Amino acid sequence: MRPSFLPRLVNGPFDDPTLFIPFLYEKRALIFDLGDIFSLSARDILKISHVFVTHTHMDHFIGFDRLLRLFLGRNHSLYMYGPENFISNVEGKLAGYSWNLVENYSNMFVLHVTEVHDDHLKTQDYICRDRFIPSSKAVEHPFAGPLYTKPSFSVFTRILDHSIPCLGFSLKERFHVNIMKDAVVELGLETGPWLTEFKQALFDHQSPDSEFEVKSGKQQKTFILGDLAMKIARVTSGQKISYIADVVYSESNLEKVIELAKDSDHLFIEASFLDKDKDIAEKKYHLTARQAGFIAGKANVKQLTPFHFSPRYQGKGHLLEQEAQKAYHHALKCHV
Ligand SMILES: [Zn+2]
Ligand SMILES: [Zn+2]
Repeated sequence: MRPSFLPRLVNGPFDDPTLFIPFLYEKRALIFDLGDIFSLSARDILKISHVFVTHTHMDHFIGFDRLLRLFLGRNHSLYMYGPENFISNVEGKLAGYSWNLVENYSNMFVLHVTEVHDDHLKTQDYICRDRFIPSSKAVEHPFAGPLYTKPSFSVFTRILDHSIPCLGFSLKERFHVNIMKDAVVELGLETGPWLTEFKQALFDHQSPDSEFEVKSGKQQKTFILGDLAMKIARVTSGQKISYIADVVYSESNLEKVIELAKDSDHLFIEASFLDKDKDIAEKKYHLTARQAGFIAGKANVKQLTPFHFSPRYQGKGHLLEQEAQKAYHHALKCHV
């Protein structure tokens, strides 16, 4: 199966945490956390539509300025999500600059900033041309389900404890449509953008009896959607990617993280300290590599990437990696 999302950590495990998630079939990306993103190309950054920030410790939010700098003067709506106080954190960043010339910009750049609370979300919009000064009060709405939903995927969150509220995130594809290229060729068709429309039709629950038009090369053919799906597609369970950065090892966090990350294809989880230093980890509200691995195993994830290593272990990253993987495989065995 070719995955729809291609997550990659922007920096090495000792550098700022940030997970960039481009979409395979669209010029679009999501990003979890906004640490130093200078190694991400402008082309990649401009694909970002939604930003999910775990918390605003500097190493997780310093990339905001680079993002803002690149989007200024462009037509774009950028959606940002973060924990309690996120709106004032963003406003504080915006207040650090002078905006006297932006009203002349012909393009429309808008920031939609949402704060996650236990039972509600609070959203404030900022229009660049209005010097980012909101024209109305923030809007509150009840919150129970996913944080963000599209027909093909959703992003879920839980509020975790890092001495301050800190969000964990999980991206879940509803189902995965595998295209059988040989079957496409057998029908005399070429692969192309029509396949994205075809998948969209499946995600949108279009009736299997409806007509679906394929524009392939110079030819145009009409199919019955259900028939075409039977011939060229296999539906399997969707991809799931989870991201946990900066949490203390507590019963409540454990329960929430395991539930959020359950059966993920790939879990990215902080592993700041070695287990021999677990007292320091606890004081700093971080995980040890062993704890991170244990959580990954209990959540039954298929792949584990520990990251966000403390600088005290520079040159010894392999020890953190080994400790996490050992605990993961052990917990996975006990789980089965
Ligand atoms: Zn951190
Ligand atoms: Zn932190």
